[in-house]
Amino acid sequence: MEVQTLLIGRIEECDYIVYDTLNRVSRKHALLIKEDNNLFIQDLGSSNGTFLDGRQIKPNVRVPLKPQNKITLSRDYELDFQKIRFPDLLQGNRRGLQEKDDQTILMSNSSIELNSGGKTILFDRNNARMEDLSKHEVNKFKSFGRASTCDIKLESPTVSKSHLNIRLLTSVIFEIEDLNSTNGTYVDGEKLLPNKRYQFSSSAQVRIGNNLNLDLKKYFPEIIVLEKKAIAPPPSKQLPPTNTIDSTSEELKQFKELENVWKEYNSRLNQATSTATGFGIGGAVLGLAASVFTGGVAGILLMSGGGILGRYLGQKESNKIRGDLTFEDAFLEVYACPRCKESFQKKPWITIRECFKCKTKYR
Ligand SMILES: [Zn+2]
Repeated sequence: MEVQTLLIGRIEECDYIVYDTLNRVSRKHALLIKEDNNLFIQDLGSSNGTFLDGRQIKPNVRVPLKPQNKITLSRDYELDFQKIRFPDLLQGNRRGLQEKDDQTILMSNSSIELNSGGKTILFDRNNARMEDLSKHEVNKFKSFGRASTCDIKLESPTVSKSHLNIRLLTSVIFEIEDLNSTNGTYVDGEKLLPNKRYQFSSSAQVRIGNNLNLDLKKYFPEIIVLEKKAIAPPPSKQLPPTNTIDSTSEELKQFKELENVWKEYNSRLNQATSTATGFGIGGAVLGLAASVFTGGVAGILLMSGGGILGRYLGQKESNKIRGDLTFEDAFLEVYACPRCKESFQKKPWITIRECFKCKTKYR
């Protein structure tokens, strides 16, 4: 007979960690037990109880489960036990299978599920924060620098003794921190602020100082480098004559909304990542990109809450998985001339007077 148990609760040592911000779920709430092909639930004397089809079960007693049963932890935290996966026993020690590409993040309307090193961590999508999420990352930072104590030693006068840290969050997202280096760290040409953590899609190019490009694939063989998607200009309609034309009131309104897009984009870049700040995954700051692996197909899902860019991404979400769209792509697509849809690229909103392509004047 084969018996497997999964500990469900709020604390680290659980196999199935529920990030319940309302604390309805106890630290060690229940056990899900699999005996051959039969499932059982056992409440561990939790504060708010475990309910089977609306009726509280006795603590410390195994109760058999049928597929149609509905379990809630406390009265209203639904536990979809059918979806819970038991780690594969054949793989041996669970700790042993912390392969780097084992991390996946799955999202639904209400939750974010992080699978990492054989554990499942469930976040409430509206209340989860990046700092919670990154706390569970199993990948350690690799340090880059001239000093021999660095994980990756780089022999170049451009490089500081201790220059930067990089780690993979998923196969397609890395996190990077410049360690107050002398010559700086650049990503896609933009200089990072020192001692702040940033996350980028694997398509981003990391550069040390002015001319030393880092080949991430060399240091992180497991990284899946996404191709940078060129933003194709929309099929050009008839372009208006080149003399400057005033925008209509509707276009002007749309243009003004772009100020928020710009702000959202910047807040994402600037504060997304300082772990101290943390940010709401469903909240104002957006663009948590997650890799979703289904049948070997890697995709990127962008999620977000409020804001115009958020709404835009929300629409994109209806296509379920957009494997080709990164946060930055989305920004570049949205941050565009209301008339001809030409992207304003990364020009600060406040500096845009007119569209350089169709010459529509916005101020
Ligand atoms: Zn234009």
